[in-house]
Amino acid sequence: MLAHMVKQYGILAYPAKHSLSPVMHNAGFDKLGINARYNFFEVREKDLEDFIKNLAENNIFGFSVSLPYKEKILDYIDKIDKDAEKIGAVNTVVRKGKFLYGYNTDHLGVSLALKESYGDLRESISVVLGAGGAARAAAYGLLAEGGHVWIQNRTREKADKIAVEFAELFDSEIHSDEWGTQGTGDILVHATSMWHKEPDSMPFFCEPEYVECFDTVMDLSYTPPVTPLLRIANKLRRTVISGDRMLLWQGAKQFELWTGKEAPFEVMEGALEKAFS
Ligand code: NAP
Repeated sequence: MLAHMVKQYGILAYPAKHSLSPVMHNAGFDKLGINARYNFFEVREKDLEDFIKNLAENNIFGFSVSLPYKEKILDYIDKIDKDAEKIGAVNTVVRKGKFLYGYNTDHLGVSLALKESYGDLRESISVVLGAGGAARAAAYGLLAEGGHVWIQNRTREKADKIAVEFAELFDSEIHSDEWGTQGTGDILVHATSMWHKEPDSMPFFCEPEYVECFDTVMDLSYTPPVTPLLRIANKLRRTVISGDRMLLWQGAKQFELWTGKEAPFEVMEGALEKAFS
């Protein structure tokens, strides 16, 4: 009975167990003395509806959303935040009574992680590689901060679609290119999932002559923590940002949405660093 009173949060994904979000959020709850736990909600698509129906019964007050549900979850959201609506994906759900509120903190994860190393993003030029959910959020975060974005993706049409949609939303330059075009700028953001399947590959964007065109190189992927791209960028003494910074910043913003309290950033950061070491 007592355990039931603990507010439950977690990550809705399939698979979910690889996630480091529990380590980060539980450290935050402990630090602030909040009677809550963050778990893995590993839910198959056929069970998604039941999971949503049983939220109140299971004392679940909110959850992170990851692959493959960031768009699918929109079907269950009662009120969507304007950024999440424009991005077309939700990564954070807050339950208040029987209503579900959807947010997207991924774009803040990218822009805040970049701002802490690169500084003001106004008029910066970024090349974003990929056109999945993470790339969309990255492009949105950069554009919202007044940056310019060049986007390219293996499936060209998906990059074109983002460019057209976001050009309408922002009074800023956004272009799409053929995959493999060596466009340059200030910031290179890698946002594909290729390292998951090809951890040792050396694609065009890892060529040292290309990487050294950028001041700052960010890889949204955090497995491995130092990706082939970041290894090269480190060697070339570029400013390097790994995916764990995005994880941390987007997580800190989620924590604040769930608790209404300022996230204990250093504690969450320390917990993540420990988990990565
Ligand atoms: P997604 O929606 O499934 O999109 C995958 C993207 O990767 C697509 O653009 C896809 O291109 C591209 N891709 C996959 N394999 C490729 C290959 N072999 N060569 C070239 N492109 C390839 O995934 P996502 O949610 O955007 O996630 C992308 C990455 O960001 C993942 O590594 C994920 O872990 C990371 N991420 C990190 C955080 C964080 O907090 N740090 C948050 C979210 C995501 P096509 O369109 O051509 O298939």
